[in-house]
Amino acid sequence: PPGIPAPTNDHLHVLQESFGHSAFRPMQWKIIYAVLQGRDNCVVMATGYGKSLCYQFPAVYTSGVAVVVSPLISLMQDQVLALKASNIEACYLGSALKNKGEVYSDMFTGRYRVIYITPEFTDACSDILVTLKNRVGISLFAIDEAHCVSQWGHDFRAAYRRLGTLRKQFPKVPILALTATATQRVRKDICSSLGLRSPEVTITSFDRPNLYIEVRIKKKNILSDLLPLMAKDSCGKYYPEGSTIIYCPTKKATEEVALTLRGSGINCEMYHAGMTPDQRKKSHERFVCDKVDLVVATVAFGMGINKPDVRRVIHYGAPSNHESYYQEIGRAGRDGLPSVCSVIYAPGDFAVHRFFLHQIKSDEYRNHRRMMMNKMETYLNLTTCRRADILSHFTSNSPSSTPKKDCCDNCTQLLSGRSANKGVSRVTSCLDDEGKYDFTEDSLNLLKTAGGVHGNCSIGSLILILRGSNCQRVKPHWKRLSTFGAGKNRSESYWKALGKMLVSAGYISETSVRAGGEGRGRGRRGWGRYGSAFSYDAIETTTKGFH
Ligand code: ADP
Repeated sequence: PPGIPAPTNDHLHVLQESFGHSAFRPMQWKIIYAVLQGRDNCVVMATGYGKSLCYQFPAVYTSGVAVVVSPLISLMQDQVLALKASNIEACYLGSALKNKGEVYSDMFTGRYRVIYITPEFTDACSDILVTLKNRVGISLFAIDEAHCVSQWGHDFRAAYRRLGTLRKQFPKVPILALTATATQRVRKDICSSLGLRSPEVTITSFDRPNLYIEVRIKKKNILSDLLPLMAKDSCGKYYPEGSTIIYCPTKKATEEVALTLRGSGINCEMYHAGMTPDQRKKSHERFVCDKVDLVVATVAFGMGINKPDVRRVIHYGAPSNHESYYQEIGRAGRDGLPSVCSVIYAPGDFAVHRFFLHQIKSDEYRNHRRMMMNKMETYLNLTTCRRADILSHFTSNSPSSTPKKDCCDNCTQLLSGRSANKGVSRVTSCLDDEGKYDFTEDSLNLLKTAGGVHGNCSIGSLILILRGSNCQRVKPHWKRLSTFGAGKNRSESYWKALGKMLVSAGYISETSVRAGGEGRGRGRRGWGRYGSAFSYDAIETTTKGFH
């Protein structure tokens, strides 16, 4: 990068000898140079770019000590093993450590270059860090997965928030905060809560061009949804092509999917927080060591997966927000080879997310999460490039509308000349010559109907009312609503698609069924058939319409 001296032969020699690399990646050198100057850094780097070198190199080069705060013991163990394999002394401290006395005495004599700790350790054992600093010195603190400090991110962890004490206790030690996913708001939060002093901020491109992203709608059942994403052998038996992770939203769903796949002869592991640590370790190892190609998991199967050749990540159920989604699909294709990321969802999946939303106490935080969720709902219904939408979430650039090859399902469909989203095309078929249609009147009618039934029925019933149906599901008092029959001239699929657009745009939301509400069909999938009810809070003032 301009303005920074090139690495010297000394630097390159250490890079080659200790890490086996012949050159720094451009942003790595910028960060390492700033660390060597004693500056604070805030780094947002796409997965696989090479974050670890940014703190490992300075420690080795200066024969100092890097203390690395990392969220997971398994992650630390992997890193320590990898460093030891390169003859770099490293250890981790934490409750899982068996030979504590020995490790501490080695640490205080300056044996280790890189020391991994959990954020909880800094809370409980800061005196050990003080002793380390007094006896050997600490040349830098690296805060890995730094987005965990922010509740505006997706993985908030209270002990991360308290890491601000490091700056107070060790004012002279530079801090390097690293993460793969952070919006501008999260970046600001990282810098302020860690007390970074005029940090060097580095943001690499978030794009992972080798990941193809697609969205599918759930069909009849688990097998009809998932088998099309598997290959068939010569006997017609299904199998995953390459290492595959299927993420499910709950433990129950994880078990259901894993057992169903096993039932049809597909070998897979399961991973969720309800399993014992031993069971989880076994599943993890069998997947990482290629003993099994498929793991069905909750997001608990996460940060510690350093497997380069994951070829497919499937979200079976709607993800809850862009940030965790991008982090999760980031586990695919770390080796740079083409990999596919699929979401398979039903609109009713958001009922689970809404249930969790209602548990959040702080109004501000709940609203933030709701906004993130609405954005995800919009993403799933997009007709334009999905990658552009995700990237714009992180960079605030407006997404480009030019479809690209090997990018996402919408780009592929647009390039092949087909309309991207059947649901919306039903709505857009009524666009005028200029490609515009004012949906205000129809939207208001739908919203008024939802209000008229006090948010207490499914979209299917709302449509029956709007279309003036006389069927039994339409209760007598619904027939007295002013909107009864007001939407006769439009088809059922038009109203369904419009309903979806209103949900995506945040004008209307599906809530779980209230007592006494219309609960028929609960648990069945498909738009309007999963027993969700509609509420229409705060929409009276929002009549901007769609154009
Ligand atoms: P991240 O934490 O950003 O996902 P890692 O630190 O795990 O990435 O590094 C990803 C891969 O890139 C590792 O296999 C690492 O050896 C490799 N790597 C890192 N820096 C370089 C470099 N300068 N030259 C070549 N390979 C590198």
